[in-house]
Amino acid sequence: MIAVAEPERTIVIVEDDANIADLLDMYLRDAGFRVLQAASGERGLELVEQHRPALVVLDIGLPDIDGFEVCRRLRARSSLPVLFLTARDGEIDRVLGLELGADDYVTKPFSPREVVARVKAILRRGQPDARDQHDTVHVGDDYVVDVTRREATRGGESVPLATREFDLLAHFARNQGIALTRQQLLDAVWGVDWYGDDRTVDVHVRQLRKKLGDDLPLATVWGVGYRLG
Ligand code: CA
Repeated sequence: MIAVAEPERTIVIVEDDANIADLLDMYLRDAGFRVLQAASGERGLELVEQHRPALVVLDIGLPDIDGFEVCRRLRARSSLPVLFLTARDGEIDRVLGLELGADDYVTKPFSPREVVARVKAILRRGQPDARDQHDTVHVGDDYVVDVTRREATRGGESVPLATREFDLLAHFARNQGIALTRQQLLDAVWGVDWYGDDRTVDVHVRQLRKKLGDDLPLATVWGVGYRLG
């Protein structure tokens, strides 16, 4: 059996200065992360909701809601690690204030290498999110996969799925935008010890499409496997 490659971990950068965001984006990608950028606080919250990143790099001065408010809203529903980008001493004091629970900060101007090192350090010490009560993933406009409750909904309506179908959907949802081979899916959902046929995956994908409807953004990647979103 082939070893499963660990899915790339996603970092969301919330920073309205495109030069800084692009620079960090480049260094984080080089370090093997999948990177998504948001130029406003609201957009950052959306991306977090949709993509379930491993960490958020968060600037404080943003055009809509500031980084403190973004952090507060994130903290209201999860303990997702946050690395603040700060520009002024006054900001550092607030970041360090216990109320926000920031995981770390770097002060501008910073070296992108330092940011990457901090990100890695935070992720190393970060255990799976035990405080997170809402392990849900949004897919497209209509679908929500609630991993904690093991429930999939379409437009608010619950869609009953068999265990493997749900596990397959949850795995897709956590790896949105990434093409997954049949073998990777077998290893992740059926387990590395499962000696089955690749066609098992196709059968379950067909079932998922049938149950969840045509709007599910699940694409066949010819010659490879499947990709959600
Ligand atoms: Ca800014």
